[in-house]
This record gives sequence, C-alpha cells and structure tokens, in this order.
Amino acid sequence: MNNERRDTTFDVIVVGGGPAGASTAFALARANARVLVLDRAVFPRPKPCAEYLSPQASRLLSAMGALDSVERAGAAHLAGMTVRAPNGALIRGDFVASHGYRAFRDRGLALRRTKLDPILLDCARAAGAQVREGLRVSDVVRDDTGRVTGVRVLDATGGSRELRATLVIGADGLRSVVGRRLDLTRARRWPKRLALVAHYENFGDVTAWGEMHVERGVGYVGLAAVDEGLTNVAMVVPARFARLVSADRTAFFERWLRERPQLAPRVRDARRVSPVLATGPFASHARRAWAPGAALVGDAADFFDPFTGEGIYAALRGGELLAPFAVQALGAATSTSMDAALAAYERARRSEFRGKWMVERLISSAVGFAPAINYFARTLASRKDMADLLVGVTGDFVPAREVLHPRYLFKLFRHSRPSTSPGA
Ligand SMILES: Cc1cc2nc3c(=O)[nH]c(=O)nc-3n(C[C@H](O)[C@H](O)[C@H](O)COP(=O)(O)OP(=O)(O)OC[C@H]3O[C@@H](n4cnc5c(N)ncnc54)[C@H](O)[C@@H]3O)c2cc1C
Repeated sequence: MNNERRDTTFDVIVVGGGPAGASTAFALARANARVLVLDRAVFPRPKPCAEYLSPQASRLLSAMGALDSVERAGAAHLAGMTVRAPNGALIRGDFVASHGYRAFRDRGLALRRTKLDPILLDCARAAGAQVREGLRVSDVVRDDTGRVTGVRVLDATGGSRELRATLVIGADGLRSVVGRRLDLTRARRWPKRLALVAHYENFGDVTAWGEMHVERGVGYVGLAAVDEGLTNVAMVVPARFARLVSADRTAFFERWLRERPQLAPRVRDARRVSPVLATGPFASHARRAWAPGAALVGDAADFFDPFTGEGIYAALRGGELLAPFAVQALGAATSTSMDAALAAYERARRSEFRGKWMVERLISSAVGFAPAINYFARTLASRKDMADLLVGVTGDFVPAREVLHPRYLFKLFRHSRPSTSPGA
C-alpha cells in the first residue's frame, strides 16, 4: 500500500476482537491488508448480551464462512418475537410473514457469546489477520499533525509499548478507548439504563419466539432459548437501581424475576448456571466515526439500547461496510485523500443505519414510558400484519422506511385510540 507509510508493520490495527473487530479484520485481510487485531481479553470471554442474532445476520455469518460453525455449535432457532406490554397485551411478530420481504434465513439464531465470538475471530484469523489476545490498548499514538499512527498497549505484566499502523480501527465496544482518546464518542444523557444477564437451565415454557416483558417503571426483561437447552435472561433496568444492583446484583436479578407474576412460576424450577453479568450505562454515540488515521465501528461508534437486539448485526455489517473505505484510505496517495475515504465511510454509515437508529430510538423511548407502550400495544396486538412488519425491521430485512412511513404511523396512532365500544 502507499510508499509514504512503508515504515509501519501493519496496514491496520483493529482494537477489539468482538463481532465488529472480527468482521472488519476479516474483510480487510481478505482484501490483502496486513491486519493486527488486539483484544484485552482472552477468548472465550464473558459479554453481557441477550445473544440473539437477527435473521439477516445470517447473511453476514455466511459471508464470513461462520454460518455452518454457528449452527454446529448448537445455535437455537427463533421464529419471531413476542412483546408483553405492562398492561398484559401480547404482541407477536413472525419472521416469515405476508408482507413480501424475506430474510436471508427464515429464522433468527441464538448462541452464547462465549461460543459465537471465538468463531467469528477464527474467521478473521483464517482470512489472514493476526490476533493478539490479552493486550490492552491504553491510548492512540499520534504524529505531530495529530494523525493517528498507532496504539499504545499494556501487556499482562504491566509493560507498555507502541504498535504502528497506517490505520487504527476502534472496534473496542462501549466506552471505546479509541473513541474517547480521539474525543469522538459521547455518553448519552438519556436513557440511562443498566443491564443484567444470566443463563438458566429448565426455565419454564420457553418457545421458539424470543420474549420481551416490559414492566411499568422497572425496565424490561428478554428471554430466549440459546444453545444446549439453556435460556438467556437479559434484564434492563433504569439507572436509579444502580445502588441496589451494586449491593447484590444476583439478589436484585432473582428478586425482580420472582416479583413478576407471569414469570415467577416459570423460574420456580429453573437453575441459574452462570453468574449474573452486569453492564451499563450503555447509551453512547460517536459525533463522528472517524478521525485522521482512525475509524470507529460497532458499539464503539453507536449503541443505544438492546431492546431490538440489533447490535451484533450492526457490528458485523459495520465491519463489512467500513472495509472498502479503509482499503481506499490505505491506498490513498495523500493524507487528504485518506481523510476523504474515511469521510465517505461516515456518510455510508449514516445512510445505512439512519432509519434503523430512528426506529430503535422510538421503540426504546416508548419502552421507557409504560402508557406509550400500552397505547401502541393495543394496535399491534390486534394488527399482526403491522407487528410482523416491525419485527421484520428489527430483524434487519424489512427497510426501516416501512414503519416510518406516515401510513404506518397513522394506523398505529389511529388504531391505538381506546375503543369506546362496549366490552373493549
Ligand atoms: C444487555 C445487552 C443485551 C444485548 N442483546 C443483544 C442481542 O440479543 N442481539 C444483538 O444483536 N445485540 C445485543 N446487544 C448488543 C451487542 O452485545 C453489541 O452490539 C455487540 O457486542 C457489539 O459488538 P462490538 O464488536 O462492537 O463490541 P464488543 O462485542 O463489546 O467487543 C469489543 C471488544 O473490544 C475489547 N476491548 C475493549 N476495550 C479494549 C481495549 N482498551 N484494548 C483492547 N481490547 C479492548 C473487548 O474485550 C471486546 O472483546 C446487547 C447488549 C447488551 C448490553
């Protein structure tokens, strides 16, 4: 790649070996770039997540050559999603429906991250990327013009050194060190939520539909089958519970489940088989996903709320989207044309995700306000066609414009009005 930068050992350093880092490294190594992935963790590492992969995520898994391995690892199959509103109304949306859109696969997948992430990282390795685990990036290295030229890493013994590359990709998730050091990312002030996640054996009545139970004022919980007959239980609660959570997160988690009348009987004979992992607050976004010599992808660039379960898809797709622009940047003859390639990535990212971001924020806002979710649940519980369309958007195969269209929104509001007919 260009002569000006021949002194660097690697073309690209990818910070973070989660789905975004693995996907980016895979695509860049495939394009013959010399790629080094650094992760502070040693895989398999725990990652609090509801572990659901949208039906369209299978396209990206397939492109990486990971789909068969994910299936062989025992991923559970999901046919759609159900949402229980605080008033008890049940909304069900199926991935296979009559709206005319079809995903790459007819089902979603669910696999524990301790299995999924190593599979994805192995795909990056197989494509030619070097991966070093157990190395924490503490800072970016810049030249005297402010351009990023590498990273500073700390190894397990506390030693520190610099690694150089033409391009540094921050795929280091929430609270990205690359994003923060370059002053690109901001924590969102609202909504402030915390998440708690655990796996259960023998959780009652788990079906092929992922479930979301939204509760008035105390957050929501998602339930879904994962591999080996286990159930992932992922709870998201307002940040005002932080003190109770930090006092004893396991007691808080188990009490929360037992106190929900519809969940208590289902958890009675269940056995928790993992520690309760916690994370948050997690809403953050990048005001810009690049700086001279660097770019952000995955949660490092944007993460709002896990309700719609799209983070892994967005991370994988983000890597696929970034790679051609990164290749262009690596081949650029001047710094100006390198920056132009990264600015073009930013525009492509916005155009790819803008609609989804809007839908995600609308849903997440409604979820935080019980009267709103109860109101919309009235329509969606009785209009399966509309619920299917919305689940298709969150499944990443129906364009967001379908549910942002005035016609859809009009029906949602009109039908949601409380009926005055007797017995309603
Ligand atoms: C409670 C919860 C439930 C969720 N449920 C779902 C779901 O069901 N489906 C879905 O699609 N998405 C879900 N998400 C979102 C999903 O987990 C993320 O969007 C996804 O993991 C993003 O991938 P990533 O590669 O960007 O980041 P990550 O998966 O977080 O990977 C980042 C990597 O960077 C490494 N790293 C961080 N800092 C450094 C450093 N300084 N130096 C070196 N390495 C570093 C970390 O060790 C990590 O391996 C959920 C999120 C939460 C919080």
